[in-house]
Amino acid sequence: MLASKLPNVGTTIFTRMSQLAAEVGALNLSQGFPDFDSPAPLREAVSRHIAAGHNQYAPMTGLPVLRQQVAAKIRGLYGREVDADSEVTIVPGATEAIFCAVQALIRAGDEAIVLDPCYDSYEPSVELAGGRCVHVPLSLPDFTIDWQRLADAIGPRTRLIFLNSPHNPSGALIAREDLDRLAALIRDRDIYVISDEVYEHLVYDGVAHASVLAHEELYQRAFVVSSFGKTYHVTGWKTGYVVAPPALSAELRKIHQYVTFCGVTPLQHALADFMAEHPEHIAELPAFYQRKRDLFCDLLAGSRFRFRRAAGTYFQLADYSAIRPDLDDVAMAEWLTREHGVAAIPVSVFYQEPPRELRLVRFCFAKREDTLRQAAERLCLV
Ligand code: PMP
Ligand code: GLN
Repeated sequence: MLASKLPNVGTTIFTRMSQLAAEVGALNLSQGFPDFDSPAPLREAVSRHIAAGHNQYAPMTGLPVLRQQVAAKIRGLYGREVDADSEVTIVPGATEAIFCAVQALIRAGDEAIVLDPCYDSYEPSVELAGGRCVHVPLSLPDFTIDWQRLADAIGPRTRLIFLNSPHNPSGALIAREDLDRLAALIRDRDIYVISDEVYEHLVYDGVAHASVLAHEELYQRAFVVSSFGKTYHVTGWKTGYVVAPPALSAELRKIHQYVTFCGVTPLQHALADFMAEHPEHIAELPAFYQRKRDLFCDLLAGSRFRFRRAAGTYFQLADYSAIRPDLDDVAMAEWLTREHGVAAIPVSVFYQEPPRELRLVRFCFAKREDTLRQAAERLCLV
C-alpha cells in the first residue's frame, strides 16, 4: 500500500459541496464561480484564434502580447513599471502559480506562515516541498491580522508568509498600513511573501485594493498572483499570472516549465485582445459585483442570518447562530443544501483549529439576479 504524501488531504470541500448541490438539485452558492457567461467578445476571440490556427504551445513564460497587457494594467493601477519579459509569467491558473512559487521557496524543514482561515491549496503545496505550515488565526469578527501573534510565529526556519487580500473566505481586505507593518516585521530576515490577489478587482465601497505591487519594499521579496478566471468570469479557463522581481521569476519559471510548461495558447490570445479592446471591463467590475452583493444582502435582511457586508471578493459570510446554534458549520452547510435547497461552504474547513464559537457559512454571490433572489427567498424561510 502506498504511504500517502498527503495523509490528511481528502476531496476538497468545493468538490464535495458542488456535488451535493447537484445531487439534491440545490442552488449552488458554494464553490466560487459565476453562473453567468463571460463577455461575448471574449468568447468570440477564442473561437477566432482557434480558427486562425493558434493551437500550438505558447512560449513557456506566456504570450508576449498578454504579458504586455498585464504590465500595462499594473502600471495604470498600481504605478509600478514591471518588465513584461522578466517579471510577468502567464500560468494555467493561480493554483499552479502558488504551487510553483512554494516549490521555489520552501526546502525541507522550512516553515511557511498562513493566516487562518486560509485557502486550501497553500498547505499541501508547502508539505509537498518538505516544509510545514505554521497557522496564525486572523482576529474575529473582522478577520484582521493579530500582529503580536504573527511576530511570535516567526522563527529561524520561517521562509514564507502567505497574504491573501481580498480574502477568501471572509471578504476582508488588507490595508496599506498592514503591508508597511509586514515589511518592517520581515525587513532583516530571509523571508518571502506569496501575495494571493486573485480577487484584486473585486473591492467595494470605493476602497482601493492595497496591492503588494504598489509596495516597493515588499514587492522585492514577493510573488504576486492573480487569476483571469475571477476577473473575466471564466474560472474554467484556469489562466492566471504571477508577477515577481526577475530573480524570483527566474526560479519560479524553472519549476513552472516542468509542471505544465505553458498556459493554453488561444485563451491567452483572446485575453490579450479583450484587455486591449475593453479596458472598461476592469473599471466596471467593482460596481458590477457590488450591486450583486447589495442585492443579496438587502434580500437577506429579512432572514435570521446575521452578516457584515463583504468588503471584497464575491463571497458573503453569514452567521447562523440565531438559527441552528446546535449545528457545526459543516452540518449546517449540508442541512441548508439538503433541506432548504441552497448550498454553502462551511468556514471551519479553512482552519487548522477552528474557533469553537464559529457559526459561519460562505455564500458565493457571483450569480444572476434571479438566482440570488431565489436563494434569498429560500434563506429567508430558514
Ligand atoms: N486563491 C484563492 C484565494 C482563490 O479563491 C482561488 C480560486 N479558487 C485561487 C487561488 C485559484 O485560482 P485559479 O482558479 O486561477 O487557479
Ligand atoms: N476558489 C474557489 C472557492 O473558493 C474554488 C476553487 C476550487 O474549486 N478549487 O470557492
